[in-house]
Amino acid sequence: MDMPLFCKQCGNRRLPEYHEVEKTTLWLCTKCKNFVDMEDIIIRDQTDEEREIVKRKQEEFENTTNFPKAKLNRRKGVN
Ligand SMILES: [Zn+2]
Repeated sequence: MDMPLFCKQCGNRRLPEYHEVEKTTLWLCTKCKNFVDMEDIIIRDQTDEEREIVKRKQEEFENTTNFPKAKLNRRKGVN
């Protein structure tokens, strides 16, 4: 099966993501900020809201990977 793994506009890797609204998997180019369907047809641009969600997820990920031990530290002598 031919999938739109790479963006035709910039050659960047596209990321598949299931969308409830469209009921299908859309492929996002994070550089061009647009989605194509399985046929490599541009469906729409990434919305500001979606951009914010991705940004927030990235920040959360960075926070948890930067401080993985903080949560794991056991408090001694507390009971
Ligand atoms: Zn692109």
